[in-house]
Amino acid sequence: MLTRFAPSPTGELHLGHAYSALLAHSAARAAGGQFRIRIDDIDGSRSREEYVAASLADLAWLGIGWDGAPVRQSQRLGAYQAALADLGARGLVYPCFCTRADIAASLAAPHGPSGVLYPGTCRSLAPSERERRLDGEPHAWRLDMARAVALAGELDWEEQGRGMRRADPAAHGDVVLARKDAPASYHLASTLDDADMGVTHVIRGADLIASTDVHRLLQALLGLWVPAYRHHRLICGPDGKRLAKRDAAASLASLRDAGVDGRALAADLLAERLPAGYSLQNP
Ligand code: GLU
Repeated sequence: MLTRFAPSPTGELHLGHAYSALLAHSAARAAGGQFRIRIDDIDGSRSREEYVAASLADLAWLGIGWDGAPVRQSQRLGAYQAALADLGARGLVYPCFCTRADIAASLAAPHGPSGVLYPGTCRSLAPSERERRLDGEPHAWRLDMARAVALAGELDWEEQGRGMRRADPAAHGDVVLARKDAPASYHLASTLDDADMGVTHVIRGADLIASTDVHRLLQALLGLWVPAYRHHRLICGPDGKRLAKRDAAASLASLRDAGVDGRALAADLLAERLPAGYSLQNP
């Protein structure tokens, strides 16, 4: 078994991250397997080096040890580009020049599980216009979902303890695989990384379960290994809302500074004994 914890270094880790990392770590250790860290720092404008160091210090404080050096998405851009080129050569992606405002203004932009559904404006651009605009105009790359789904057929994944789940990628529409401001989207980077790292069990928060629809499709299109998944409940704060990076009271750094014993906290979280006011909920 190989599991991973994949923080985005855009803020301090909180109790919810600790719970997620502990579940992944303890599953690997119980099976005599490996536990790895991935730093999801593909968003260069929001990622901060001090949060990388702080996240690793938080994990060590909880008593979590990891195998190998942390993998960094910012050092894997070649793998993302190669996958995008592969999909492009098969006519499964197209450049999209729309701005957020263009998409929001479209009358035909209902919501899907990943947010606003892309109305498909750039899917049918004439090849000549595409070529002209590719030369200098900022663009994202989108998956042609209808073609991709037709190619891949029906897909399932194993949701541990809950049996097989049917993936519904079509509900997400033409998702972005490479952003205007980042060389890969979360969907593409995370799917490729999990495969290349040899992750056998993806253990992460239930807020990401819908993303697995898309990840499962990308695995099929790119011929990748399919891990088992476990989407766990999320820790909610005293206000009943799931924790966010701005909730300073629940940040691991603040607990550490207040003299809390990290290993004792880890044991409590694994036993689902949460600090007063906090609860575990399905989103
Ligand atoms: N980096 C993502 C996050 O912090 C987690 C990605 C994943 O576990 O797939 O939300």
